Amino acid sequence: MSRSAPLVPSALPVLLTAFLLTACGAGVHGTPGAGGVRDPYFPKAGNGGYDVTHYDLRLAYTPDGDGPRLTGEATVTARATQSLSAFDLDLDGMDVRSVEVQGRAARWNRDGQELTVRPRHDLQRGRTFRTTVRYRGTPRTLTDPDGSHEGWLPTRDGALALGEPIGSMTWFPGNHHPSDKATYDITVTVPKGLRAVSNGELRSERTSGGRTTYAWHTGEPMATYVATVAIGRCAVSRSTTAGGLPVYVAVDPSEAKASRKVVGRIPEIMKWAADIFGPYPFSSTGVIVDRPDTAEYALETQNRPVFPGTPDLSTLVHELVHQWYGDSVTPRTWRDMWLNEGFATYAEWLWAEDHGGDSAQRTFDALYDHGEDDDPDLWAFPPAKPSGPGHISDTPVYYRGAMVLHKIRQKVGDDRFRAIVRGWATTHRHGNADTAQFTSYVEKTAPEKDFTTIWTNWLHGEGKPDHR
Ligand SMILES: [Zn+2]
Repeated sequence: MSRSAPLVPSALPVLLTAFLLTACGAGVHGTPGAGGVRDPYFPKAGNGGYDVTHYDLRLAYTPDGDGPRLTGEATVTARATQSLSAFDLDLDGMDVRSVEVQGRAARWNRDGQELTVRPRHDLQRGRTFRTTVRYRGTPRTLTDPDGSHEGWLPTRDGALALGEPIGSMTWFPGNHHPSDKATYDITVTVPKGLRAVSNGELRSERTSGGRTTYAWHTGEPMATYVATVAIGRCAVSRSTTAGGLPVYVAVDPSEAKASRKVVGRIPEIMKWAADIFGPYPFSSTGVIVDRPDTAEYALETQNRPVFPGTPDLSTLVHELVHQWYGDSVTPRTWRDMWLNEGFATYAEWLWAEDHGGDSAQRTFDALYDHGEDDDPDLWAFPPAKPSGPGHISDTPVYYRGAMVLHKIRQKVGDDRFRAIVRGWATTHRHGNADTAQFTSYVEKTAPEKDFTTIWTNWLHGEGKPDHR
């Protein structure tokens, strides 16, 4: 990355240096924040030196026509965790028009996904500051190391934004790493007749001059990778669960009929999940069902997961349970992805077990006995250590991750197991956690049990464990 020259060249006379230090006030100069947070798989993702508390995104999108399709104004409120002379935001593509810090124009430059901002004055450690970036352009679609697509996906009638692991940096500047969560206001203006659906709750919907503005508010912390915007024609239905939770469902008209039955089971799934995993961590729920050709996968976007086409019941359970594991308890780095996928996959097994399907034991046994024939990738690497950035969404992360949870259940019994999965979600609610925290949490919950072989063979060990 290229950065601007330091403020005080080392060749300056000592006296002048001293004067400049005094002139700056505190006598301590800030240093640039790091251009990444050293994620083991995506080292440039996220940035050092600050912690975002709120994103205020004002977006306008025009699906067709000439010129830039997305116009954005992002105001990022953050607290400096060190004295900062400069800091980075992640933004991939788009044309930056201006950057302000605390309402004053700031210098900036770009190098790849790093937008480096140099405020007029150093930001003191502990200070809360606002950065406003104005930008426009046609957002990019990214091809991930595993070949799937994320970022901004144009659709027949609009667009869909999906951000796991790094795609959200294609449509707004920010600290794009799961370790920095924040609240959001996402306001989207689209041509009248289209709808813009996002995370959280819809605060207002106003039409004027042939355009409609939808204002969405997310009051609970959210990682950037589960932020979404879905723009297009859709049928919306709103309801409330028996427990009083608002349900907002947006479905592409072509999927309306096919999805009615499965989507109607959301309240039942939410109740079942809350009984097992503890109180739902967010203030609304729902789903977004787009056309099948929109994306290659479903994603647990916060409050309302996105599905390309009508989901089957098991997939709906999977994405809704991610709200506890992934969205509320968020991985500290992308290496901890199994804490998302292992839990969401195990939730599918539990759902089947509780609803007349196979027991989790039977599912586990079938995988152990036949997994290798059916899917040679199952034993390709340990769930807690994917073999590279292109493999964080591979089979071991999901199925072997779930098998680790089942091994814990075998060891401690059903009641204690339920206390563990529930307690884990409660202890780290709205926070971040990693694999080492999980194993020590389990050990503390059942101090008389020995989990060594589970960790060694199932969680961290290479190859298929010798014994089930
Ligand atoms: Zn998942």
